[in-house]
Amino acid sequence: HARRLEGVDKNIWVEFTQLTADYKAVNVGQGFPDFSPPSFIQEAFCSAITGGASMHQYTRGFGHPALVKILAKFFGRIVGRDIDPMEDFQITVGAYQALFCTFQALIDEGDEVIIVEPFFDCYQPMVKMAGGTPSSNLYTLSSADWVLSPEELASNLNPRTKAIVINTPNNPLGKVYQRDELQMIADFCIKHDIICISDEVYEWLTYDGAQHIKIASLPGMWERTVTIGSAGKSFSATGWKVGWAMGPGNIIKHLKTIHQNSVYHCATAAQEAVAMGFQREYDTFGTEDSYFKQLPAQLHKKRLRLAECLRSVGLEPVMPQGGYFMITDISSLQVDLNDPSTKDEPYDFRIVKWLIKEKGLATIPVSGFYSPEHRGNVQNYIRFCFVKVIWFVCI
Ligand code: PMP
Ligand code: GLN
Repeated sequence: HARRLEGVDKNIWVEFTQLTADYKAVNVGQGFPDFSPPSFIQEAFCSAITGGASMHQYTRGFGHPALVKILAKFFGRIVGRDIDPMEDFQITVGAYQALFCTFQALIDEGDEVIIVEPFFDCYQPMVKMAGGTPSSNLYTLSSADWVLSPEELASNLNPRTKAIVINTPNNPLGKVYQRDELQMIADFCIKHDIICISDEVYEWLTYDGAQHIKIASLPGMWERTVTIGSAGKSFSATGWKVGWAMGPGNIIKHLKTIHQNSVYHCATAAQEAVAMGFQREYDTFGTEDSYFKQLPAQLHKKRLRLAECLRSVGLEPVMPQGGYFMITDISSLQVDLNDPSTKDEPYDFRIVKWLIKEKGLATIPVSGFYSPEHRGNVQNYIRFCFVKVIWFVCI
């Protein structure tokens, strides 16, 4: 095998979805809704696939024209600038492929990428596969009052630092970055000529007055930011795998090179349906009819329900300000872990496996969102996903 595969062969999703299936456990770990997407987007999909022969054939490789046009209009209004539909987007197979194209296009052998911990697990292996070195000693585990300090950020800087990855709202913590924190990161990027990769797949999901701000909308940041989005997360249709990278044409053109030489093209009908969904959201933006407003309102209730549920069994949740995950400290759980097959694994991995095998409940160990060097310090948390109807059934 190629050297780039070394150290990236383990994957928590592969491991835990398989175990969940093997034990037929209830999946309250993995981040996908257990309910249907809204009817308007399902109808959009039906009308796309019955919309004529062209819907079943190739479309423009960098993104279906109807989709990039409405995304440019939609995000242009939010970011407050003209966005070029043809230059400033690459449509991808989910946010995953947008991230992959970004790292492949921008990171060279030996480049360093600052990844703020805890982080969505795929960033590190993707940086490594591009030949880069992930640097992430910014680890912490408190909660929404977790704040990234300028000193910590500066301590990760070195002459090879090429990019920083942020994720707001954050998976798994639920932190939503405030404007002054984003400004601090922006100042850092501008001062040291660093690219910002901003994963915003949960951008519509904020609670208790928290506000999602796009770092690309801060002065001087559009020029150096790649913003990652996901239609799967936006419309509760994760299986469609439509995502995008948005940014200045002079950066996105490099992602296009990766895309044209690998995937080339994403499913036409799914892109057409997502375009119709965004048109509807453009027209209803900020009103009660907008799904981007309805979904967080629904999730706000599920989030409180899950918190109640955890407290009722003596577990204290870390309340998220955004996203659809909640982590909780499990050090108080008195469990006799006598499974010899897991004895060398971190405590949270062992507890999660015990919960799957003995209780039929699948969650995700939080140390999976830390770099291997820091895992030992964060073994006492597990992650629940609350974008599930099941929470209404269980209490
Ligand atoms: N980024 C984050 C933070 C995620 O949680 C996920 C998982 N959905 C992705 C990217 C990948 O999204 P997609 O399903 O659109 O590939
Ligand atoms: N992003 C989702 C999560 O964090 C799912 C990731 C996956 O299934 N690979 O749960």
